[in-house]
Amino acid sequence: MIEMAKDLVCGMDVDPKTSNYVMEYNGGSYYFCSEKCLNEFRKDPDRYLRGGGDSRGGHRGHGGGCCGMMMGGGWTSYVFLGIILLLLIIRFFW
Ligand SMILES: [Zn+2]
Repeated sequence: MIEMAKDLVCGMDVDPKTSNYVMEYNGGSYYFCSEKCLNEFRKDPDRYLRGGGDSRGGHRGHGGGCCGMMMGGGWTSYVFLGIILLLLIIRFFW
């Protein structure tokens, strides 16, 4: 029985024995199918870890959003507020 690791970026199963792309993080080892995925994970590990190994490959369909949207919740509302404010300012000075 081969134990497969999951590439948290693309959702692919990766064989830990053959994968050259491994990263140690928070006391765990994470395997990736390619350098691209490894770099992607390295950029923002928490984002992928928050997905709980549930990557884009397996849609669970809660809210329809991926991990990126969950994270951007607070951030987007600020942008939204900024746009409204900007529109008000433009209207005011027009
Ligand atoms: Zn991958």
